[in-house]
Amino acid sequence: MSALMPTYAPADLAFVKGEGVYLYTADERRFLDFCAGIAVNCMGHAHPHLVEALKSQAEKLWHVSNLYVIPGQVELAERLAAASFADRVFFSNSGAEALEGAIKIARKYQKDNGHPERYRVIGCDSAFHGRTLATIAAAGQEKLLEGFGPVVDGFDHVAFGNLNEMRAAVTDETAAILVEPIQGEGGLRAADAAYLQGLRTMCDEFGILLMFDEVQCGMGRTGKLFAHEWADIIPDVVATAKGIGGGFPLGAILTTEAAAVLHVGNHGTTYGGNPLAMAVGGAVLDEILKDGFLENVVALGVKLHAGLSGLIAKYPSVFAETRGLGLMQGIKLNESIVNRDFKAELEGEGLLVAPAGDNVLRLLPPLIITEANIAEAMEKFEAVAARHASS
Ligand SMILES: *Cc1c(COP(=O)(O)O)cnc(C)c1O
Repeated sequence: MSALMPTYAPADLAFVKGEGVYLYTADERRFLDFCAGIAVNCMGHAHPHLVEALKSQAEKLWHVSNLYVIPGQVELAERLAAASFADRVFFSNSGAEALEGAIKIARKYQKDNGHPERYRVIGCDSAFHGRTLATIAAAGQEKLLEGFGPVVDGFDHVAFGNLNEMRAAVTDETAAILVEPIQGEGGLRAADAAYLQGLRTMCDEFGILLMFDEVQCGMGRTGKLFAHEWADIIPDVVATAKGIGGGFPLGAILTTEAAAVLHVGNHGTTYGGNPLAMAVGGAVLDEILKDGFLENVVALGVKLHAGLSGLIAKYPSVFAETRGLGLMQGIKLNESIVNRDFKAELEGEGLLVAPAGDNVLRLLPPLIITEANIAEAMEKFEAVAARHASS
């Protein structure tokens, strides 16, 4: 038995090299990567601009801690703010850490505004916010909480997409609402614009914060920098991570000026926003903000959706429905087929995808794929689907 704690059950695949949208094993088998490290490698593998940013920073300075000024932080925060709703940015190292900070912001915002009794956060069923004690409580799913009681206090849950249930759950103790605009792990459920707009109105009415978890759906994945932009609303707080570092560990909390309640001594992190992370994060943003980049993601998303819809039409005994937006899409398998088994069969064809809840397979390709890559992925899906349809 290995000394590694067995928290994962990885596929029997180890990659030694990545190039663009392909990964390679030591024996030179090639895989088309529609998993992208779970929506992380937004620029694919070994992107020259990202490699150059990391290399040149690595030769100068890695880490100094937040006891000293890190000019790269100021610059990246200003660029993120200029490109989004945000006025302020805090850099973390991961998604869960960004969410922890967001939850702290909700509590402190209410206390600073004369409502220390408001400390509860309402989230949605089948949400995922990370694996820390507060973020598993925020998600509220039994499978995440099992064995780790007592559950951190202060979280309520309602059905995703249901405004009436959300409104009924708001009490005098509510500080904030926390929602993924598109649920990732939970099965690729996309909230519609009217729901997100309704949440905005509700939060204004009750004086509570609207917080979005865009760890997975943010950073260009849906064809906007942030998925909530499709609903044309301004949140108070957004937590993001995954794509923001393109594979380098990085997360961020973005807030409006009013919700920027963390001051000296309130919050911190040793690594957060270190020079290496800032260099790579800046390079990722260079690419995402290039003219036409996000428009291309939208166009590719339409192609991917069309491809998946075609599969469903051709193999109705295998696939149930397609979900999602942009390059964050899912395909739900019929009950007779287990998504993890189908995923393993796709690996046999040289295609990597990620499983999700509700028997869904997630397609989260690098944002730099081409139409030819989509066609290639659909062929591989077809090869596996045809076997199931005829069996
Ligand atoms: C991945 C994810 C997280 C947790 O991020 P980590 O970096 O794994 O801590 C939180 N929320 C959502 C929506 C995610 O997809």
